[in-house]
Amino acid sequence: MEYDVIIIGAGIAGLVTANRAAQLGQRAVVLEKSTEDKYICNSRYAYGTFHINFTGLDTPEDDLCAKIDAATDGFARKDLARAVAKDGRRLMQWLKDEGIELVNLGSYGTNVLSPPWRVGFGLTWQNYGADIALQRLEANFQKRQGRILRGSRARALTLVFGGIEIEVEQPDGVKKLSAPSVVIADILFILVLIELFRLLLIYLEEHRVSVSTMVEVGIVATLREVLLKGAMQVDWRQMLALCAFIVTLGVVLRYAGVRLEEQETSG
Ligand SMILES: Cc1cc2nc3c(=O)[nH]c(=O)nc-3n(C[C@H](O)[C@H](O)[C@H](O)COP(=O)(O)OP(=O)(O)OC[C@H]3O[C@@H](n4cnc5c(N)ncnc54)[C@H](O)[C@@H]3O)c2cc1C
Repeated sequence: MEYDVIIIGAGIAGLVTANRAAQLGQRAVVLEKSTEDKYICNSRYAYGTFHINFTGLDTPEDDLCAKIDAATDGFARKDLARAVAKDGRRLMQWLKDEGIELVNLGSYGTNVLSPPWRVGFGLTWQNYGADIALQRLEANFQKRQGRILRGSRARALTLVFGGIEIEVEQPDGVKKLSAPSVVIADILFILVLIELFRLLLIYLEEHRVSVSTMVEVGIVATLREVLLKGAMQVDWRQMLALCAFIVTLGVVLRYAGVRLEEQETSG
């Protein structure tokens, strides 16, 4: 096999993994579906504060584990929580060794990518901490003979003898790549969102808040995705589906409370 590890996604998760793998002598390649030089991803927009449940990573390990335990009602696996609490500080040092500058803004922002965003509205990200960090990680990876294949969308994974085969969609056709290991580095943000929605649902149930709030959150989240990508960049079929989705949510929002009101009036 040509590679030891294939990494899907060139956000911060993918580029940290790729550089670390290359440092450890692995032949790594990164697949990135976007083609632009400064491809848009969550990492490039992020404020860049490294923290655990609003607690700085310099906090003693036991306290960080206690924070994770409290925030998840004891649900988080103890060994994973310990690993996160322990490795956070090590990761900060590793980033500094990669030439990435971190500043201490106090409170829980003891490690923030520099220069931090100026305060204000708008999609300002060019040449701020996260954007610079990604550029640096990409340059380091290239110095380590790693390759980032832009315009390469991983679209199917199959277990094969000795590893995993990935079907990769590229501008000139579909290609297959395989390696003993594959890292999917695009899941984190989705998991964070799912967790946020899960917590929101529990909160709404506990406080008997109506379904309308959830629907509103759905509409805002959908519009946010369109804004982040750029309305003109979305395929017209996807845009049509999104419009239908938003209209449906609007209808739900309009009529969600009606039955309850009718019951109350007739009762
Ligand atoms: C406005 C904003 C502010 C934030 N601030 C903070 C903060 O201060 N602190 C914090 O901890 N978190 C913050 N976050 C969350 C944080 O940005 C994300 O959790 C993190 O960047 C996720 O990194 P990632 O590498 O997993 O994903 P991404 O950075 O989203 O990278 C995923 C990459 O994978 C590529 N990709 C996806 N699918 C495929 C495929 N099939 N084939 C090939 N490539 C693919 C995408 O094009 C993308 O480039 C913020 C997020 C936003 C939007």
